[in-house]
Amino acid sequence: MADNPKNQFSHVPQRISGLIDLAYNLWWSWNPAVKLVFKQLNPQAWIDSIHNPVKMLSELPEETLVSASKNPQYLLHYDIVMSRFRHELQQKKSWFSENFTFDQHVSIAYLSAEYGLQHSLPIYAGGLGFLSGDHLKECSDLGLPLVAIGFMYSQGYLHQDIDSNGWQENKTEVLDREAAPVTRVMYDHDTPLVARVPFIDPPIYIGVWKVEVGNIPLFLLDTDIKENDPKNRDISNRLYTGDLEQRLKQEIVLGIGGSYILDLLGIRPTIVHLNEGHPAFALLERIRETVADGVNFEEANKRVRETTVFTTHTPVPAGHDRFPHYLMDKYFSNYYSLLGIDRNSFLRLGFAPEDAGGLFNMTAFALKTSTFRNGVSKKHGEVARGMWRGLWPEIPGGEIPISHITNGVHVPTWLDPKMELMLNQYFSPSCPSWMDNHDNTLIWEMIDEIPDAELWAVHMQLKRKLVNRIREHKRRKWGGEGTDPMNVISGGALLDPYTLTLGFARRFSTYKRSDLIFLDVERLKRIVNNSWRPVQIIFAGKAHPSDDDGKRIIQKIYQYAHQQDFSGRIAFVEDYGEQMAQYLVHGVDVWLNNPVPPMEACGTSGMKASLNGVLHLSILDGWWPEGYNEKNGWAFGGATTGTDRDRADADEIYDLLEREVVPLYYTQSEDSVPYKWVKMMKEAIKSNGPRFSARRMVKEYTRRGYVPALKNATKKTG
Ligand SMILES: *Cc1c(COP(=O)(O)O)cnc(C)c1O
Repeated sequence: MADNPKNQFSHVPQRISGLIDLAYNLWWSWNPAVKLVFKQLNPQAWIDSIHNPVKMLSELPEETLVSASKNPQYLLHYDIVMSRFRHELQQKKSWFSENFTFDQHVSIAYLSAEYGLQHSLPIYAGGLGFLSGDHLKECSDLGLPLVAIGFMYSQGYLHQDIDSNGWQENKTEVLDREAAPVTRVMYDHDTPLVARVPFIDPPIYIGVWKVEVGNIPLFLLDTDIKENDPKNRDISNRLYTGDLEQRLKQEIVLGIGGSYILDLLGIRPTIVHLNEGHPAFALLERIRETVADGVNFEEANKRVRETTVFTTHTPVPAGHDRFPHYLMDKYFSNYYSLLGIDRNSFLRLGFAPEDAGGLFNMTAFALKTSTFRNGVSKKHGEVARGMWRGLWPEIPGGEIPISHITNGVHVPTWLDPKMELMLNQYFSPSCPSWMDNHDNTLIWEMIDEIPDAELWAVHMQLKRKLVNRIREHKRRKWGGEGTDPMNVISGGALLDPYTLTLGFARRFSTYKRSDLIFLDVERLKRIVNNSWRPVQIIFAGKAHPSDDDGKRIIQKIYQYAHQQDFSGRIAFVEDYGEQMAQYLVHGVDVWLNNPVPPMEACGTSGMKASLNGVLHLSILDGWWPEGYNEKNGWAFGGATTGTDRDRADADEIYDLLEREVVPLYYTQSEDSVPYKWVKMMKEAIKSNGPRFSARRMVKEYTRRGYVPALKNATKKTG
């Protein structure tokens, strides 16, 4: 087994050795001024490492580091950053500690199958991951006593390459743990911690890695260790495997293994927050522990219920994990008796009336075993209440106890640094600590003080940066390994930063209807090719490796991008991930969103776009019914039903583009500023920025979910 990756830095001089700790704490990633302390060491190496300080530090020659350690200017910056870092980590006073006090030490365990934190740690598939990643960052900023559990996917990273037929090739890349911001959790100085998942047969062993997210530790479980049977080594290979038994094993590892690991590390969480149903077996383990303390099952179940917060994200019945009873028997037959119940009562815990029977439904189990349950937007709350009515037959027609907390995005992560600098300039004089209060909607009213031309100039700069990045990428491919010239064009080589630019980037699941805008190709061509008012569209996104329907949609878009009569104004950018998402949500003009309602429980990329003044053109699904105020973007499809929903929605998009979006953008004054457009940008930033921030979200979880659950827990024991 490999040594701890942190041991590879003996060449870093003592004077600046704090850089190692800094590189291993993702706190650097949401503090633009802190990034510079790495970048200044060697800007080219910073770019070559793809903004990954662990990789960069390990590869920098000793001379570079030594010379930095003797450069007074560098050291001044270094010392300032390090003192901020230490202060951040030692901070005793926080929003949480100032507002809530408990008689005893309290802690919250947060469990999620994926985390989107930074691209050097590719353990995410999409929105659910970025939601949990943003949640952790915000919990750190607000000082919540939270620890998190997830997976160390060794093949988390699916690199996307599109072949010349437009077909997505899945290139899996095994995560290089030495180059990722992770350290192995050790049993003692030279033995890594390895644990057997308790009571589960056949046995599964796990190793543990730690990620530091500011003040929040995230523990990643790893089954790719030599102690495991080869079959079990693959459990943590990749996200969301389609193999049912393997998936069950994943969820056993996450829930039961995760709880056990916390125990081993001496962390006894007061309450648990399950992000989606995947980790719900953690509740079984909590019940088992309570029963082991001499409490009967009913009481143990009640205690666990009172101390659990559960967030559901899936608005369609088929999307929930359900395991057949024969598989449950295979792994849990030892477990029933430990809970003090028989097989039937055990299996009934995961009963959902809408399942045909014979299935253990993870969401149903989690809903029935939690005290605070929520969907992730107002609309999704309604959908979830309708969907799970059958679980509460005792309240027919009554209010189903599922609430909602609308998702939000971590503002320091998703607000572009240049944007932030500009806001600083105008907000700070009257509100110096505005960033610490960025969920306060009043502060954002000051955005009206920014001259329109200045905001537009920053936006244009970000758009040029996006277009350059895409073109440079293609240029390097063309000039380097070489590629089909058509690929250079469909990859965005002809993009123009002065053209009205729509962005569409997300996972290529069928329900997201990524190709909807091509429904009437001739009409789209007219919109795109208007010679005075052209429009270009940038697409990006990966399909799940086994989702051929998704791959066909990518192929279709790719083929349109090739067509000469789209004039190179349709681009498909390969390998969408955290970094490309940053460029896109900062740099396009319009963010297009057209899933089939009510399939998008919330959606968060549109929030990231709005925060940066990128106008949302979206169907009224997910968060948009809450976000849209008629002045901050465009909405359609609110009332559409009927047989040809695609047609109706596509027509509305074309109408909006032709009548409103295009004219508004191209109505520019002699100084090339589209004043009415900028007004809408300001409205989007100030109306959506604070309200759809992770800060607002985490405060809501705290007040409505965590604190009541913590009170339930502490009242019993003390
Ligand atoms: C924000 C984000 C998502 C989630 O976007 P949705 O709008 O929810 O589809 C997915 N992938 C990346 C890389 C993101 O940054």
